Amino acid sequence: MTIAVIGAGVAGLAAAWELTRAGADVTVLESERRPGGVVVTERQGGFVAEGGPDGWLDAEPHIPPLAQELGIAGHIVRQAARGSLLWTGSTFERLEEGRAAALLGIEARLEDVKAGFASFAGGMGELTDALAAPLGGRIKMPLGVTGIAQAGGTWRLAVTGGMVVDADAVVLALPVYSAARLLEAAGVSGARDLAEVAYFPSLTVSLAYQESQIGRGLEGTGYVTPPEADGVIRAVTFASHKFPGRAPAGHVLLRAFLAPVEGEPAIVAHQELRGVLALSGEPLWTRTFFWSRGIPRYPRGHAARVAEVRQRLERLPPLAIAGAGVDGTGVSACVKSGREAAQVVLRRTSGS
Ligand SMILES: Cc1cc2nc3c(=O)[nH]c(=O)nc-3n(C[C@H](O)[C@H](O)[C@H](O)COP(=O)(O)OP(=O)(O)OC[C@H]3O[C@@H](n4cnc5c(N)ncnc54)[C@H](O)[C@@H]3O)c2cc1C
Repeated sequence: MTIAVIGAGVAGLAAAWELTRAGADVTVLESERRPGGVVVTERQGGFVAEGGPDGWLDAEPHIPPLAQELGIAGHIVRQAARGSLLWTGSTFERLEEGRAAALLGIEARLEDVKAGFASFAGGMGELTDALAAPLGGRIKMPLGVTGIAQAGGTWRLAVTGGMVVDADAVVLALPVYSAARLLEAAGVSGARDLAEVAYFPSLTVSLAYQESQIGRGLEGTGYVTPPEADGVIRAVTFASHKFPGRAPAGHVLLRAFLAPVEGEPAIVAHQELRGVLALSGEPLWTRTFFWSRGIPRYPRGHAARVAEVRQRLERLPPLAIAGAGVDGTGVSACVKSGREAAQVVLRRTSGS
């Protein structure tokens, strides 16, 4: 019994973990050269910089048990600083707990935001690394799936380079615009509508400084700017205050979230931060991350469309969909989604 997982983001990796634990023969096909999808942690010189998610809401229940199974539960760290600020253009004002999230369009219950965030000591990449490690060579990279078709009661996958992979069951854990295209071509009616989910671009710059370069005291986890503000910075996380271990002693790591920008993002971010945080000198280093399609936002009726497509999939050989594009945008929701998709195909392949 061969099960193919398409996409090695956190949802696909969680699915592969669940399947492997159940004894299935799993192959993961990933179009990029590294697993993790938008989860990217870079470590250099004692700094831990995130290119994608930096944590999850502590109230969300799906990551700690998985971390326990993977042996990394002891690496979970909790938010060290509380509260955030609003930059008015000339001064900082303290924001009520939860207001910063609302200003940034993060959809979460206020009491969950108030309960704070959690992460891994070595960054969110610890989770995807721990999920990928036991899979070893069963993650095939870079191998993008270009088509899926029924072949009797099983699936035949076309992959880049003209290869074909046969599988008894499939977990499709792709950005939903890609999943919709593959499903539509495989004749799943209604699948095309899933592509109505909009993905917003994300541009962030991580900047490292010595503490002595920062003229203004850093209070809380960071600051946001009002939507009508001048400048390109929409929010700044004081990364090394938010979670422990993000910068070596005597140093600070900042992460700026930018609107689309003309020019070099790192230079623009530093220039704007210089005024706001009374910075002196230049950053020790910077790292820019850009996702042209970052975080999905669902249109009205999304859940019903997903449910309809899932119903249609029941009439086909075992195939389940998972990921941020269908079941919730956070890492925790993606873990749940991946594991549940694995359970669906396991149930169907065992005939129960
Ligand atoms: C900048 C940013 C910050 C975020 N911050 C947070 C946060 O703080 N907390 C939080 O909970 N969430 C956050 N999120 C959201 C969360 O990180 C993502 O929604 C989640 O990681 C998505 O996981 P996924 O597996 O569904 O998709 P992805 O990570 O997109 O993985 C899909 C995988 O499929 C691969 N793929 C695509 N096409 C093919 C193909 N044809 N064949 C094979 N493989 C293919 C891709 O290369 C990728 O590896 C953030 C997201 C971004 C972008």
